[in-house]
Amino acid sequence: MQQHFDIAIVGAGLVGSSLACALASTPYRIALIDSQPLPASEPADVNPNSLQDGRSIALALSSKKMFDVLGLWQSLDADAVPIKKIHISDQGRFGAARLDSARYDVESFGYLVPAEKLITALQQKIQLYDHIQRVQPYEVSNLESQTDQVILNADGEPIHAKLLIAADGIRSLIRNKLGIGADEKQYQQSAIVGCIDTEIHHQFTAYERFTKDGPLALLPRNGNRCGFIWMNPSVIAEKNLNLSDEGFLEELQQAFGQRLGHFSNLSRRFAYPLSLLVSDQRVQQRVVLVGNAAQTLHPVAGQGLNLALRDIAELSEILVSSENALDNIDEALRAYEACRQPDIENTVRFTDRLNFLFTADYPVLSRTRGLGLALLGAIPALEERIVRQNLGTLGSAASLLQGRALCAEHV
Ligand SMILES: Cc1cc2nc3c(=O)[nH]c(=O)nc-3n(C[C@H](O)[C@H](O)[C@H](O)COP(=O)(O)OP(=O)(O)OC[C@H]3O[C@@H](n4cnc5c(N)ncnc54)[C@H](O)[C@@H]3O)c2cc1C
Repeated sequence: MQQHFDIAIVGAGLVGSSLACALASTPYRIALIDSQPLPASEPADVNPNSLQDGRSIALALSSKKMFDVLGLWQSLDADAVPIKKIHISDQGRFGAARLDSARYDVESFGYLVPAEKLITALQQKIQLYDHIQRVQPYEVSNLESQTDQVILNADGEPIHAKLLIAADGIRSLIRNKLGIGADEKQYQQSAIVGCIDTEIHHQFTAYERFTKDGPLALLPRNGNRCGFIWMNPSVIAEKNLNLSDEGFLEELQQAFGQRLGHFSNLSRRFAYPLSLLVSDQRVQQRVVLVGNAAQTLHPVAGQGLNLALRDIAELSEILVSSENALDNIDEALRAYEACRQPDIENTVRFTDRLNFLFTADYPVLSRTRGLGLALLGAIPALEERIVRQNLGTLGSAASLLQGRALCAEHV
């Protein structure tokens, strides 16, 4: 039996699933497709060592507002921890830059959410909608883009849709099959992520530290727990990953120092190789690329998902903006691409430069970095850029990001 949908989303990761939730208030018939089988519905963190994804995701305030209006926040609230302060320091140097959300008259700079909780909340929400059909496992192996539809092929039956949204990750098959090129840079770094207990409570502070082995962030979780993300050159990451728990804790403690007292109770560690990828095009006839398929960022500033959510918010608005939006979609998609271009370019540049600044080992640069940290509070433009990036107030004013529901009356 052939399957016909209005919209096919390929990739049910954080981005594809967020998009499905954003479109849930529309009457479009949606297929959410993934090559992986449907996951178990229970979150894994009863036992932290059974986690499948150790990331702590920093959500900008605008992303939190979006999840709130989509009815997801109530499932995340108990595990979401506000970031009220940001503390930036340099190993081996005195001085630090401190940013306080109270100065900006906002509840916080954003929230920390365990990635596993987020994906579970998204999946549970999607299950509530009859017009969103999960098609898993279904590994798309080819596609045909026509003027009035796109046809997806796999081992199973073909899937037909009026619009295809590719959220199939950095190695996007859809991007490749459409012949869309991409600029890619390997950072020769890996991020090691996990959680620890700290002797001293974090006081809702996100700590960013330049260490000799790369940038290290300690991110506030519930109680005296912190998520960490340590971005090491690949060789050092491999060495650190293979250390015993005690050995790793010792290295981490040495890199971070004693500001939060003694570290203990290390969770399972995960490693992610880091690269930058920017797709040459984000739209083609009846196809849009989003998330890592469109742009994959260095996680130093925690912007990848936040940027993708801004794309999703704009795209969703376009899809509900007019009657028969899907019949005349190509012009709207070109307008979408043009409107998203500046935010994407700025965010890519911001994260790439921040990583350069955090990892550069040249004497002049590292002296400047020390100076930059010392002066951060005194340079309003620089401070404001970092703060606004965290709040998510740059780049898009779409309704969902302001906490307003999509107006789907035309569809
Ligand atoms: C260590 C780390 C920390 C991060 N921290 C933050 C943060 O704090 N804040 C933030 O905003 N961002 C953060 N990010 C970025 C964020 O994780 C990514 O932006 C986001 O996960 C991208 O998700 P995605 O759904 O686009 O891709 P993916 O997660 O790669 O999902 C792609 C999906 O497509 C499916 N798929 C692939 N090919 C096919 C096919 N042919 N057929 C069917 N299905 C297919 C896959 O099975 C997969 O489920 C971080 C990233 C890393 C690595």
